[in-house]
Amino acid sequence: MNYRSFLIKYAEIGVKGKNRYLFEDALVKQIHHRLKRLEGGFTVTKEAGRIYAEASEAFDFDEVVNALQHVFGIVGICPMLQIEDNGYEDLKAQVVRYIGEAYENKNFTFKVVARRGNKQYPVVSDQINRDLGEVILNAYPETRVDVHNPDVLLRVEVRHKINIFSETIPGPGGMPIGTAGKAMLLLSGGIDSPVASWMIAKRGIALEMVHFFSYPYTSEEAKQKVLTLAKLLTPWCGRLTVHVVPFTAIQEELRRKCPEELFTVLMRRFMMRIAEAVAQRCGAGAIVTGECLGQVASQTMEAMRATTAVTTLPILRPVVGMDKEEIVRIARKINTFETSILPYEDCCTVFTPRHPRLRPVLGELEAAEAALDVEGLVKAAVDGIERVQVNL
Ligand code: ATP
Ligand code: MG
Repeated sequence: MNYRSFLIKYAEIGVKGKNRYLFEDALVKQIHHRLKRLEGGFTVTKEAGRIYAEASEAFDFDEVVNALQHVFGIVGICPMLQIEDNGYEDLKAQVVRYIGEAYENKNFTFKVVARRGNKQYPVVSDQINRDLGEVILNAYPETRVDVHNPDVLLRVEVRHKINIFSETIPGPGGMPIGTAGKAMLLLSGGIDSPVASWMIAKRGIALEMVHFFSYPYTSEEAKQKVLTLAKLLTPWCGRLTVHVVPFTAIQEELRRKCPEELFTVLMRRFMMRIAEAVAQRCGAGAIVTGECLGQVASQTMEAMRATTAVTTLPILRPVVGMDKEEIVRIARKINTFETSILPYEDCCTVFTPRHPRLRPVLGELEAAEAALDVEGLVKAAVDGIERVQVNL
């Protein structure tokens, strides 16, 4: 079948009521963004609870489906034959043509489910079901009707045009990017933070990223790796801004002036302060990290409390309760795993203390920071940010 249009299904739970159009408009916009860079000259429109993408030129079917499978908010992608209403006999002929072209092997059971959106249409749904069933059986005697458990469920929607479709390719689910605000994500070169990005983006949150870069302790390759990870996330998140923060001065100052065993948590408190400053500039309403309970010294409840204490923004930790295997499974699915395991050191490993404190006490941390010009260090780091745009 040479499809020209797709019917896009989205979950309707939670988008009922007066916010529904916002959700639909955001989804239309996201689909438009993804398809405009592909061949096909697609137009994306919405019509009474339906979103359509229609091509005006030839396109690569797999490429388009793949793009749509990265758009959060879509639950199903139905390649569709959309026809004008040229009378009942024409509808029958088109349905026979559709089945003929869509299914090479006709050895299947089917059921027709027609729906009249246009109540002016002269034939009622039940009659349409029976008549179309009959013409299909006549044209393709290998087929059989099974109304309970059909192999092929043929849907015929009579609206001002007529939609004929029978296949639903699963979409990623979630909410369209941008419908739930914006957040600032701490992106490292590891496995967890790209997965955290994907999970939060899936909730409809637009992301910007901060990466703390400790040149020359960490190499240019380590930074490139992080930018590659951001790039791999763009099919899901759209274009991303990565704020690359020079972090070396802070780490060196901590090493000079603070007890080594507090080093990791102190460093993370600086990360949060800087992330908050960048978030405020960008209008982001939360900070996101790939922290997971219990993995390492900086990820105990006490350490999280200590890092949380320096910011008033909510800190979202979507992978906090997941096992490593679950995180890896998602990392593989979203195609970031292979890049994450490339062997470049990150800024934390370079400065990892030999005996990090597992249960840091807030008072102790504040006392250690009294030896530092915290505000000045944060300001210098923020002023030194290099902004990198990562495009789809
Ligand atoms: P990841 O796999 O995401 O690196 P991890 O298990 O290695 O996580 P940590 O290194 O303790 O754990 O980092 C915890 C979180 O802190 C990361 O998921 C990330 O959100 C943030 N983070 C750590 N290092 C950096 C960095 N250099 N730049 C930005 N964020 C960082
Ligand atoms: Mg890490």
